[in-house]
Amino acid sequence: MAVMPKKVRTHCPFCRKHTPHEVERVKKGRVSGTTKIARQKRRQSKVGNRGKFSKVPGGEKPTKKVALRFRCSVCKKAHLREGFRAGKFELTE
Ligand SMILES: [Zn+2]
Repeated sequence: MAVMPKKVRTHCPFCRKHTPHEVERVKKGRVSGTTKIARQKRRQSKVGNRGKFSKVPGGEKPTKKVALRFRCSVCKKAHLREGFRAGKFELTE
């Protein structure tokens, strides 16, 4: 299980220096614009046997990527940062 402190000192892109941040977990939403499915759809072409390979393999992964929101305690602005893969994720005080 991944554990992360609720308050962490990290780089603020607005202050452009390291400041204390409050960490918040983001439940849904993408940090990057493209999804995996959108990329797979684009790859399809008119030629070739797509019978077996047209199916999307895998599906849900057992672990999810944790997205984190860092709120700077100096400028009060928040920025998102994609975290890491973890089955369980907790924020500690
Ligand atoms: Zn800041």
